[in-house]
Amino acid sequence: MSERPDGRKFDEMRDIEAKVGVIEQADGSAMFRIGKTIAIAGVYGPKKVVPKHLEDPEKAILKCYYDMYSFSVPERKRPGPDRRSIELSMVIKNALMPAIFLREYPKTQIEVFVSIIQADAGTRCAAISAAAMALADAGIAMKDIVSAVAVGHVNNEIVVDLNKEEEDIEGTSDIPMAYMPRMKKITLLQLDGKLPKEKLRSAIELGIKSCEKIYEIQKKALKGRYKLQGE
Ligand code: ADP
Repeated sequence: MSERPDGRKFDEMRDIEAKVGVIEQADGSAMFRIGKTIAIAGVYGPKKVVPKHLEDPEKAILKCYYDMYSFSVPERKRPGPDRRSIELSMVIKNALMPAIFLREYPKTQIEVFVSIIQADAGTRCAAISAAAMALADAGIAMKDIVSAVAVGHVNNEIVVDLNKEEEDIEGTSDIPMAYMPRMKKITLLQLDGKLPKEKLRSAIELGIKSCEKIYEIQKKALKGRYKLQGE
């Protein structure tokens, strides 16, 4: 049974594709596509901190840059950073940071660039999933991979991985989540909209289950290139 606009079941994500090593010049890179949302991530570093006064003698500093291309949405988006992209860059950084052994790389910086080349909702989550793979692809010591997806409340139902059409339905609430599947820790939880309190728990549970599925796809893409710790 399904009442979602694109015919998916409530707990069904869109079609997912994940790939690492997509940018030769980067130290690590990845592509993560979920439905029509596509994120490409490039990681540079660890390398010397610029400007030097930002250097931390104890650990690496993480810099994240999220960017949505002008042609990624039906109405051309004005290029360059705006309030939204600055906020999302911070949100993505905070979601990734707990997974990285930053203390392994004192006095360095690790830069993560994520470009959204096509957007159909869920871009911050696709960005996190792509960035985590790119960090692993760069060979950076990590405690875990970060997997991310949005859950939400659409037409009175808890659903996973909203597309833009669902996001735009009146009364929809959107809950982007990021999760470290091996550590069983949530690293991002936002709520845009309203949700009955008792439904929040099942929404989070669906988010965790879905992140575990994304983790398998990320792992498969990374296999062969790097052995994940403890595997
Ligand atoms: P997220 O992409 O993480 O869901 P938002 O809630 O800010 O983040 O955006 C929701 C969706 O709205 C985006 O994925 C994209 O499809 C669309 N969107 C965002 N900004 C624009 C824009 N400037 N023009 C057209 N669509 C946009």
